[in-house]
Amino acid sequence: MSLSPERTVAELRELQELTGDENGAQRVAWTETWAQARQWLREKVGPTGAEEEVDEAGNQWFTLPGASERALLLGGHIDSVPSGGWLDGCLNVLAGVEVLRRIAEEGTPPLTVRLVNWADEEGARFGRSLFGSSAAAGSMSDQDELRERRDADGIALPDALVAHGVDLDRALEARRQLESAAAYLELHIEQGPVLEALDLPLGVVLGTFGVERHQITFRGQAAHAGSTPMDQRRDALAGAAKLELEIREIARRVGGGAVCTMGSVVTRPGIVTSVVETAECLLDQRHLDATWLAEMLSNAEAASRRFANEEGIEVDWEKVWSIEPIPFDERLIELADESVREVSDSSHRLPSGPLHDAAEVSRAGVPTVMLFVQSLRGLSHTKLEDTKEEHLELSVQAFDTLTTKALEAFGQA
Ligand SMILES: [Zn+2]
Repeated sequence: MSLSPERTVAELRELQELTGDENGAQRVAWTETWAQARQWLREKVGPTGAEEEVDEAGNQWFTLPGASERALLLGGHIDSVPSGGWLDGCLNVLAGVEVLRRIAEEGTPPLTVRLVNWADEEGARFGRSLFGSSAAAGSMSDQDELRERRDADGIALPDALVAHGVDLDRALEARRQLESAAAYLELHIEQGPVLEALDLPLGVVLGTFGVERHQITFRGQAAHAGSTPMDQRRDALAGAAKLELEIREIARRVGGGAVCTMGSVVTRPGIVTSVVETAECLLDQRHLDATWLAEMLSNAEAASRRFANEEGIEVDWEKVWSIEPIPFDERLIELADESVREVSDSSHRLPSGPLHDAAEVSRAGVPTVMLFVQSLRGLSHTKLEDTKEEHLELSVQAFDTLTTKALEAFGQA
């Protein structure tokens, strides 16, 4: 039985039929529909002989023993956002099933091969993304806060988990799952417009962006709009306006996929008859390289002080949130690039804006890479999410090729 990418597409349709409705996919983690999807997956994997284990964080593992106990991991997530798309997360789970079938048929692989269906990647019900993968990576540190979380119906997170056999207090015991990991591979839809614009079916993900998020407050003086001459104003909005235009230049100068967004500016007193006294801005900056991210931040800070000076106003910076860039493994990036070029004409390397389970696994020190397949119109987290069937099939082939290359490369080590 050789690889059958058409079967993956048919199974994606079958899952959509089983767990979706006219509004889209309804496989929200820790719900009945999600449990039903996991049972369906169990039945799909069964004939491969891979042994199932559900760990302390609710992650569903399927293991095909190899010559070595060291394991090549293939991962995805079968949970969706409410009214989500038919591909986000489950494409890789089902591509992984197809790869398991092919490997099981061929005999004992050099490394153990494990498919993992991560629990609650989306965080749709309780607002906590990457639940299962962060527990396995050992980076989950917010149990106290999670104990207090409730869903829209007032059900507490620990109670919802218990209903699916998961004890929040023991979730971190899932860490042992990564102890034997040699490498981790994940295929995902791009969820953005880059590959479609390049007219390429597939891309190799370099890593996930680091993010710097700050609140910047410019302070001037409220003054009457009629009686205050233009050259005697201390207008806080002037500083914010100059900064908003400058961050575009900063992103352009730094390049390498840099993005800067001023997503909000709130002015006070916020009336038509007064010069703006305070302008509170929210700035989001992202880059794959930590040095360049720091450079973008310091450039924006310096620019804001220069503009404050020019306008006779003050400026304050306060950090809202940040996360470091998570670069993927260089050797695996090369292998992924080769795999993409073997099944299609050319490859493209791109960073990922969204975080993925792969970022958690990589953070835990496991060599990791992701493949992206083109998303039509860049849409995701909606029933409009789509990818051409021929591209889905190519992505299964590329993922299978990458699995073979990774087994060779890491099997020798
Ligand atoms: Zn996803």
